[in-house]
Amino acid sequence: MTSTMEAGGRGEAAWGQAPRRLSILGTTGSIGLNVLDLVATEPGRFEIEALTAGRNARELAELAIRFSARIAVVADPSSYAELRDRLAGTGIEAAAGAEAIASAAARPTDILVSAIVGFAGLAPSLAALGATRTLALANKETLVSAGPLFLATAERAGTRILPVDSEHNAIFQVFETDNAPNVSEVIITASGGPFLRTPKPELAAVTRDMALKHPKWSMGPKITIDSATLMNKGLELIEAYRLYPVSVDQLSVLVHPQSVVHGLVRYKDGSLLAELGVPDMRTPIGYCLAWPERRPTTVKPLDLATVGTLTFEAPDRDRFPCLPLAEAAMRRGDGAPCVLNAANEVAVEAFLAGRIGFLDIARVVEAALAGIDAKGGLSEPSSLLAATELDGWARKIALACL
Ligand code: NDP
Repeated sequence: MTSTMEAGGRGEAAWGQAPRRLSILGTTGSIGLNVLDLVATEPGRFEIEALTAGRNARELAELAIRFSARIAVVADPSSYAELRDRLAGTGIEAAAGAEAIASAAARPTDILVSAIVGFAGLAPSLAALGATRTLALANKETLVSAGPLFLATAERAGTRILPVDSEHNAIFQVFETDNAPNVSEVIITASGGPFLRTPKPELAAVTRDMALKHPKWSMGPKITIDSATLMNKGLELIEAYRLYPVSVDQLSVLVHPQSVVHGLVRYKDGSLLAELGVPDMRTPIGYCLAWPERRPTTVKPLDLATVGTLTFEAPDRDRFPCLPLAEAAMRRGDGAPCVLNAANEVAVEAFLAGRIGFLDIARVVEAALAGIDAKGGLSEPSSLLAATELDGWARKIALACL
């Protein structure tokens, strides 16, 4: 666990004291709405500073008014007029553009939830470091594309990173920092997605609608497709590698269709510690919002007698080639995860738009990774500019392969 993730209540206002000042990047998405769902259950506990969205000005304005935000920002400048008009007379500031999102992220807060989807989340997440005391990170693409840069910047800025992703949040809860040298394995679980039992020949015919039906989790479209290809598990392996002091060989994936056990840490004495809960993102989000305390949430308690059976199996790397591609990028390091992520974003967008088939997602990612050798190797991005250039380079290769 990096020092930016150390346990302990350093500087945290206890519940019942001053309200916590909170900003949300990606308010109108699946994670953002779950954050506000929890905020609504804790009247007076939070003051909302900034709320941001991509282009959904109508919903963003409604939420900004309902939660009395100080500023609302849309990334897409063409949505600005609608946002401004809807907020007229409310006293809530309106702004637009990628730079305005980064400026909003840099406003002082106690907690900032980073829940923009994709590489677009990196710049504002970096901008928030130092301005927020705790950054609750859902945007896994930040850690995949530029994890070392992001975590080193957080460390220098004194911002604590709490993982929102359910698997990493689970590991955070059971990883004993003092016993880090005695950890032998970190395991993240995977539901297996909608095609867990689909024979390989049938995967070529998978449509957008089929892939968007996740059996266990309700999430935004990009991560839902990533879950169907198992790229999500690959991105999460890289995320775990960035966050926890373990080697690549100590990380593994276990398919667990019930999605009750979210993450496990094995110790050298033979103990295997796990976090269990219903598959509902409000549990890890609530954990981050209340940290270092634990607060009640409206999440239905896990009833193990009703669940009855928990099963585990190894992932099928042959039917789901995105997982071994991500594992290879993780082993390779030096910018390869950034390339993997960029190519995957391009491919998933093309699949959602009906331009390529399901199996083409892995093909496009593989082609982009192969481009690294042609380029003569890469290095890990050491600045936002370097990450943006590498991301752009990989996108061009991926686009050419569609
Ligand atoms: P959604 O697609 O549901 O929401 C994405 C949010 O980001 C929306 O508010 C969207 O605005 C905004 N957005 C999109 N593009 C941009 C942009 N270019 N600039 C600024 N804002 C933008 O995604 P999720 O909530 O599902 O996921 C968010 C992140 O959290 C992802 O990184 C995902 O991997 C991670 N995550 C999600 C989980 C989940 O359960 N959903 C679980 C674990 C991690 P608009 O509505 O206007 O388009």
